[in-house]
Amino acid sequence: MGTLYVVGLGPGDPSYLTGAAKTALSRAEVLCGYTLYVELIRPLFPDKEIYTTAMTGEIERCRHALDLAQSGRDTAMVCSGDAGVYGMAAPVVELLPDYPGAAVEIVPGVTAALSGAALLGAPLGHDFCVISLSDRLTDWSVIERRLECAAAGDFAICLYNPASNHRRDYLRCACEILLREKSPDTVCGMVRSIGRAGESVRVLTLSEMRDADADMFTTVFVGSSQTRRIGKHIVTPRGYRS
Ligand code: SAH
Repeated sequence: MGTLYVVGLGPGDPSYLTGAAKTALSRAEVLCGYTLYVELIRPLFPDKEIYTTAMTGEIERCRHALDLAQSGRDTAMVCSGDAGVYGMAAPVVELLPDYPGAAVEIVPGVTAALSGAALLGAPLGHDFCVISLSDRLTDWSVIERRLECAAAGDFAICLYNPASNHRRDYLRCACEILLREKSPDTVCGMVRSIGRAGESVRVLTLSEMRDADADMFTTVFVGSSQTRRIGKHIVTPRGYRS
């Protein structure tokens, strides 16, 4: 029986790979995943067999990886950040009952909410929630409701997928929904290409962010009512100082 390792690579630079991720990758005979992510780690494992696919076709990609494991070959499927956060871990676990001859091991990685927060300071120092703005697999009405509830709960909010190739205005729509409840001066941050070439960090207000440009390599942070800007950092205090 082969093992399919579902491995979160962290945001990009191999220095963010965990020790467990490195071990799983070195055990695997075959590396598979979306081309961009496989290329990030390929230099570390130049001799491995590679199987890459385009962005869509997720189920087909999972089935191929499970087939490889079932045939007795240890395989690693790589994802950016953590494989369980808008990644391949869920479909792999869902499909596993069809592959009694394969074992699966999920290896956690540093998700963009955490690597991005570290660049900003401590925006997630108190309760927070994570919402993807992609309506490819989730109805926009559901996303809108979750944004409203997060604002009503005064959570710090981390937004993934603030733009896609076919839609640039997700972030503007999200800011408009949040502004129904939240102050326009709410402290926000945007981080782009974390751990990759061109990494950038920006601190701004919620009203400024409504007009800001995001792309699919951006992760967005929206403060709670307690979030403050301190120099170049953002902090959501938990109250240790009071
Ligand atoms: N599994 C990934 C998330 C995949 S969804 C994780 O745990 O991080 C894709 C979204 O993740 C992007 O639109 C962006 O919002 C965020 N993201 C992933 N990698 C990023 C990076 N290196 N820099 C900034 N944002 C990133």
